[in-house]
Amino acid sequence: MMLRLVLALSLLSFASAPAEARLVEAVASFTVLADMVHQVGGDRVQVTSLVGVNGDPHAYEPTPDDAKRLKSADVVFVSGLGLEGWMDRLIKASGFKGRPVVASTGLQPLRMQEDGRQVADPHAWNSAANGIVYVQNIVAALSAADPDGAASYRANGDRYVNELRQLDTEARQRIGAIPAARRRVLTSHEAFGYFAAAYGVTFLSPVGLSTEGEASARALAGLIRQIKAEKVQVYFLENSNDPRLVKQVAAATGAKPGGVLFVESLSNPDGPAPTYAAMFRGNVDKLIAAMER
Ligand SMILES: [Zn+2]
Repeated sequence: MMLRLVLALSLLSFASAPAEARLVEAVASFTVLADMVHQVGGDRVQVTSLVGVNGDPHAYEPTPDDAKRLKSADVVFVSGLGLEGWMDRLIKASGFKGRPVVASTGLQPLRMQEDGRQVADPHAWNSAANGIVYVQNIVAALSAADPDGAASYRANGDRYVNELRQLDTEARQRIGAIPAARRRVLTSHEAFGYFAAAYGVTFLSPVGLSTEGEASARALAGLIRQIKAEKVQVYFLENSNDPRLVKQVAAATGAKPGGVLFVESLSNPDGPAPTYAAMFRGNVDKLIAAMER
């Protein structure tokens, strides 16, 4: 009797499957990446971000709920290049059987010196051209996880790539029109290496590639001297980390506040950076306004 009931139920769910197909459950490490997955996945994909809005993806501490989310995920996305130092342990603890998709795969990493070691700069998405590489990897990964949705992911991805290509071109043209000597700003930590390389802006910052690093008194004094010598006029805060150090440096140099940049975390949906594209566009607008002062 019991067996027949179970069989009947499973037939029923099989019969209704095409009409209301189960959503693909995706998990992304942080909000910027989660939005990209959402843009490509559309209404076929339910995506959750582990790090929340305004959260710091370097210094994140995973919760037991995160492990549960991972375990039931169909596909897991990380940005890679050393951003999510906490992810390997979480995946092991969660029992997730797959391997995370590294969305930065295939792009040219920037190498930098940090504490005497060569490390990759993880903030690749801050160039919109790199964002396109992320999108292509997401299209491929979602298509592999859900072949029935491949055409939809391809169409969403193509539309999204066009939008990012336009943002990239506009940023290049608008920033390129500003005299090179004025293209210098002060920010909290080194999150704009790829932006700097792509669009020709010099960023100075008191903290290194990871927000977990600490600046020595000597390094700070050197930075303050450099800012004065290069006449850097404007400083920015970041939505996802501690503003005290950059404010202190700014106060010592006379640099004026330029607002808040969104470097590695989106805002709430009703805030100024609810999506990756909005975040990129907003950063470009604020940086240009500061450099044109
Ligand atoms: Zn960072």
